[in-house]
Amino acid sequence: MTTIRTRFAPSPTGFMHVGGVRTALFAWFIAQQSSGTFILRIEDTDKVREVEGSITQIENSLRWLGIDWQEGIDKGGTFGPYLQSKRLAIYKEWAQKLIDQGRAYADPYSKDELEAFRVQAKMNKQPFLYRRHRPENPPEWDGSQPLRFKSDPKPYTWTDAVMGDLSTGADAIDDFILIKSDGFPTYNFCHIIDDMLMEITHVLRSQEFISSTPKFLNLYEALQIQRPILGTLPYVMAIDGKKKLGKRDGAKDILEYGSEGFLPEAMMNFLATLGWNDGTEQEVFTVHEMIEKFSLDRVQRSPARFDEQRLLWLNGQHIRLLSLDDLYVRVTDFWPASAKDADEIYKKQVLALVQDRLKTLKDLPIITDYFFQSPVPNWLMADDNKQLRKLNRQEQSELLSQTMKAIEQVKDFTTDNIQSALNQLLITTGQKPGILFSLIRLAVSWAPFSPALNDTLATIGRGETLTRLQTAIDAA
Ligand code: GLU
Repeated sequence: MTTIRTRFAPSPTGFMHVGGVRTALFAWFIAQQSSGTFILRIEDTDKVREVEGSITQIENSLRWLGIDWQEGIDKGGTFGPYLQSKRLAIYKEWAQKLIDQGRAYADPYSKDELEAFRVQAKMNKQPFLYRRHRPENPPEWDGSQPLRFKSDPKPYTWTDAVMGDLSTGADAIDDFILIKSDGFPTYNFCHIIDDMLMEITHVLRSQEFISSTPKFLNLYEALQIQRPILGTLPYVMAIDGKKKLGKRDGAKDILEYGSEGFLPEAMMNFLATLGWNDGTEQEVFTVHEMIEKFSLDRVQRSPARFDEQRLLWLNGQHIRLLSLDDLYVRVTDFWPASAKDADEIYKKQVLALVQDRLKTLKDLPIITDYFFQSPVPNWLMADDNKQLRKLNRQEQSELLSQTMKAIEQVKDFTTDNIQSALNQLLITTGQKPGILFSLIRLAVSWAPFSPALNDTLATIGRGETLTRLQTAIDAA
């Protein structure tokens, strides 16, 4: 049985956005499901587009998500180097083989000459094909001109692991550049050599490469290589589904999500379900489940839509799945400044109360600050609340005074006893929970949302609850 070997082959041209990372993730899933090998190869043959620092950025993005690779620049491996600019001699060697077989030749034309061919084709209403201008006696290739592949035009039919059966006519095949005049190979050439030498079994990549696939098939044939399984992943579109996801629609550096309080496993779940499902209604998957259930034939063929609200929802779901100890570790950098001197036991007690309400870890300060310090009353918040603004300030204060009296009676300040007192208060005041409890909640927290009222009061303590209610009344 062949060992599954998949790769992620990014170009170091900037930060990693969702589309790129999803490609990496699917390739990683396939390797993981069969104890195969996942390889990180850096395709740095376009020196003009290269952005400094991108390689580290790519590695850090994958690490943050929990995608690990077994072979790569930092890890080495039997099939290295894993940086294409360090493999130039290898590409030359394979280029020479093609020259020797009569399947590659030096391109003698200047830019202007090529442009003239293009213009001519346009005038004749024909697609421009370089092979129509193949030089009869090309000069010997000395590296100063581009080296071109001598294609063998023919129709193709092939099966894409995602897109299904595909076919093209001979017009899709042309003589493309293998090695540029700067000495660097083109993507079209070197990825094929590398995938072969690195014994890659599955090549997953974005839709933008699908139109070039017939050219790749032609080159595989010329090199007598058995091609890997090819899987094309549809684009990730903006939420409106009309255009490819761009920076304005939320395509940002994947690492930014970490600092914004997203969990890597939620991001992984989100990416995995951008165009894939397991055939059931299940939406929340653990990493283990995703690896186990993923399959290329359930990746949808139409573009996926990037819905950040869904990511937010998934993040909340994954936060709930964490054990308290794990969550405690994850929120280390997210506590409000007021929690600085609080001890671990108290912080964990607070965390347990708010766990179900956090959508991102960044919500932590706003939802916990009042557990660590007395909040400053902000009655404007009561005016913003649809329910509360049904009462005037005096009625609101009066209700809080009645609450103070009720709280004073609760000697043993447990959540149950507090709840009974609050229920009793509903009866005596004739108020709805939506009004009374919202008011008390606001008066002790001055936060837009908080955990269950009885839990909140019990954690703050009886004395502090009474003080806060009095402060709120004084400020009314
Ligand atoms: N270097 C290409 C890119 O970054 C990779 C395409 C592939 O996976 O083969 O888009």
